[in-house]
Amino acid sequence: MERLQKVLAEAGIASRRKCEELITAGRVEVNDRVVTVLGVKVDPAQDSIKVDGRPIKRESKVYVLFNKPKGVITSAQDPEGRKTVTDFFKNLKERIYPIGRLDYDTEGLLLLTNDGEFAHLLTHPKHHVPRTYLATVKGVPHGTALDKLRTGIKLEDGMTAPAEVEYHDIDPQTNETVVKITIFEGRNRQVRRMFDAIHHPVIKLKRVQFGPLQLSGVPRGKYRHLTPQEVRELR
Ligand code: URA
Repeated sequence: MERLQKVLAEAGIASRRKCEELITAGRVEVNDRVVTVLGVKVDPAQDSIKVDGRPIKRESKVYVLFNKPKGVITSAQDPEGRKTVTDFFKNLKERIYPIGRLDYDTEGLLLLTNDGEFAHLLTHPKHHVPRTYLATVKGVPHGTALDKLRTGIKLEDGMTAPAEVEYHDIDPQTNETVVKITIFEGRNRQVRRMFDAIHHPVIKLKRVQFGPLQLSGVPRGKYRHLTPQEVRELR
């Protein structure tokens, strides 16, 4: 027997937390009875489980590494009708959703899956997956400014954890600097806010690495499936 929210997440309905919300909102039925409390255990092989009246499917697990272009929103739908990441996966029969998010204007490595458990694990604050970005910033930050990012800087939502920071490229002509930065947490707009705090706003942001996974080899707007070994390494 397994917890209902876990079974829903594993069936690719949504993340475990979102599935809990579906249960408490009264949208889930087990053997034709609405369940609104959390903690109910079910047998996925025996029990009939429905969300919004539709039986859940047992889907195979899919894990993809996507090179998100800028100008694409990291959610399933956008009320303003902008392009979303799911538009790139119309040929996949499984319904996948992003693990964490990248800003509309950020490009680069984004993982998507229908494995709610896996998504929950990787986005949990305790799981400090390193995320590496190339940030093109205005001006040439002084070494002492980068030191502040290395040790931790005060943002509205608290101090940042120590980060790894190095110059990647300096272009005196455009007065822009590309800084390679690795952070071990994933707060909202964190890299942009860190550079704002040292007065070198981000002009362009690209995520090039997530844990052991690299973006290289995947063209912009394209994706590849993770190997079983890569999935194991991330767990
Ligand atoms: N940090 C940001 O500021 N934006 C992103 O998209 C990712 C990390």
